[in-house]
Amino acid sequence: MPKSVARKKTRAEPAARRSAFARADRLNVLPPYLFAAIDRKKRELREKGVDLIDLGIGDPDIPTAPHIVEALKVAAGRPENHRYPAYEGMLSFRAAAASWFKKRFGVDLDPKTEVLSLIGSKEGIGHMVLAFCNPGDVVLATEPGYPVYKIGTIFSGGRMYELPILEENSFLPDLSHIPAGVLRKAKLLFINYPNNPTGAVAPIEFFEEAVAFSRKHRIILCHDAAYTEVVFDGYRSPSALQVPGAKDVTIEFHSLSKTYCMTGWRIGFAVGHPDLVAGLGAIKTNLDSGVFQAVQEAGIAALTGDQSHTAKNNERVGRRRDLLVQALRSAGWRIDPPRATYYLWVRVPGRMSSADCVDRLMSEAGVVCTPGNGFGPSGEGFVRFSLTAPDDRIAEAARRLSKIRIAGPAK
Ligand SMILES: *Cc1c(COP(=O)(O)O)cnc(C)c1O
Repeated sequence: MPKSVARKKTRAEPAARRSAFARADRLNVLPPYLFAAIDRKKRELREKGVDLIDLGIGDPDIPTAPHIVEALKVAAGRPENHRYPAYEGMLSFRAAAASWFKKRFGVDLDPKTEVLSLIGSKEGIGHMVLAFCNPGDVVLATEPGYPVYKIGTIFSGGRMYELPILEENSFLPDLSHIPAGVLRKAKLLFINYPNNPTGAVAPIEFFEEAVAFSRKHRIILCHDAAYTEVVFDGYRSPSALQVPGAKDVTIEFHSLSKTYCMTGWRIGFAVGHPDLVAGLGAIKTNLDSGVFQAVQEAGIAALTGDQSHTAKNNERVGRRRDLLVQALRSAGWRIDPPRATYYLWVRVPGRMSSADCVDRLMSEAGVVCTPGNGFGPSGEGFVRFSLTAPDDRIAEAARRLSKIRIAGPAK
């Protein structure tokens, strides 16, 4: 606090008054930031001149396709796009999303009531909890997982009940062993397949089970579908809405970020039951004012235009996956190649912790990856490599990783 302010105390002020800049409790109870030590070490190594290859973050290096960039340029020049957008999105964008959805999943959506534009799906996921969770309500979510399910829950005053996803269950949650007391208070269930961080995919039977479970216990099924289009080897990822009756209980979050390499553009959409879409919209109209219309027009170009870029990008990311998998295997790691997402989720060899493994890979190979426990306690013993670095950097990382012998005793 600036001194001039601190001195201006009045007599009425209570002695133990908190600093004026003390953060709200909801920020102080957030889970600890586990990557501070890694950030520090990264800085140190870079200062020493080490050529670090950062496979920590899932943010595509491949540029957005030219026809999408062109659509933005044209749309940015149109004055009608310079004004406030409607919070729910232009009807033309929602119609493009609905027709993409129909083509891709064979499911009909009413663009007026069953589709909502989002400023990226992260925003939608966080606000979804704010829209439907009262203090004391329980939110169920798979763990390890994308941190926003938990953060949205904390911001809403809800309680998180985490569902571990373990290798022996193909990284799917066990919905049959949740205590009855938890189920009574459960309001939302977050699932995410293809999954970040594990790279796991879920068969349609799992979505059937999740829909039946949600209907039975009167829970809102929230499916984070950010990676349905980042797939390899001909795999096709289902939508939860393909399950008959799913729309009665489901909202699904889609993102243009990963599908079209548009993370910086901030655009996605939610689809599902009209009451769920409207509830989320009620939060949005009060807190944000929608997506810049020029970005929505670019989004229309992405959803309705040439889809071959996505296929080509997937082939390219698939080759990176194969390179790294081969390198890790030749260094003695056990790993199954994922069928989707940008991530290799790998069990750390020996009895090393996630943090120690990350540290050693940084020191000995100059390769940065993410400790699995940063995504939840069940991630301990794993590390995550992201495939979103340029091809030559991935190749160099593979060369370095294939040489180091991490499985043996430390040092
Ligand atoms: C990247 C990601 C998102 C959100 O991406 P947006 O850019 O906000 O659309 C959501 N869920 C998961 C699991 C992700 O990895």
